[in-house]
Amino acid sequence: MRSIGSTQRRTVAAAATLAIVALCAASLVHAQGGKPHPRAAAPQCDPAAFRIIVDVGHTPESPGAISARGVGEYEFNLRLATVIDGKLREAGFNRAHLLMANGEAIPSLVRRVGQANAMSADLLISIHHDSVPDVFKSMWEFGGVQRPFSDKFKGHSIFVSRDNADYDGSLNFAKLLGARLKARGLVYTPHYHNEPKMGSRRRPLVDAETGVYRYDQLIILRTTRMPSVLLEAGSIIHPEEEVLMGREEHQLVIAGAVTEAVETFCALRQPKTRRAGAQR
Ligand SMILES: [Zn+2]
Repeated sequence: MRSIGSTQRRTVAAAATLAIVALCAASLVHAQGGKPHPRAAAPQCDPAAFRIIVDVGHTPESPGAISARGVGEYEFNLRLATVIDGKLREAGFNRAHLLMANGEAIPSLVRRVGQANAMSADLLISIHHDSVPDVFKSMWEFGGVQRPFSDKFKGHSIFVSRDNADYDGSLNFAKLLGARLKARGLVYTPHYHNEPKMGSRRRPLVDAETGVYRYDQLIILRTTRMPSVLLEAGSIIHPEEEVLMGREEHQLVIAGAVTEAVETFCALRQPKTRRAGAQR
């Protein structure tokens, strides 16, 4: 993930009108005598009517972070996003869309946000892999080449923007995702919150239980009109975690967590097709 300068941010259209949609699972369960009603209908998800965009962070030409072994982040993002897309389709989310872009960073971001908004999707998850600022890096030799690495931090992190058109929806999905990752034994990194040397890259920790941070300025989060969440799936500047992130079995664990979180989120939301009563 890279932060975007304010001048560049201004080149992107402002976020759509604020539209707070409250999630309220409790309202779907009728309490009676302090206990849930036994015949209360559970929230239902119609996966075929729910569109999720799985955004592949960065581009082949502008690959984002570079791993401890010299591999571009884009390769990791593409592999994991593809596994997630496959897992979602297995679960019946046939309208899932893998969003990819080419070219330089900022123009590609503008294009991908335009594409996402045109799709009128129910949810967007942007897939990334993390690195660290230079102050935390040391040098090691790999493949006969001196390369930067850092074993200071590892673990995933989840980001939302308060400027998103549906912040409440974004935050709810982020918490669901964090909870499903935690249930699989994955531990988020607290360094965005508790490491003073992160300086201007420190972020407010919105939910300490599930590892959700706020990063209001991120273009992909603030200018998309659907609930949007960015997942830093793990740190590829960390030599051990880089190997883990390259393993398909680990990608499937993350994809399973994403799919379960999407299923729950979908059940709590009415897909736009049903709200509008129209086919897309
Ligand atoms: Zn990234």
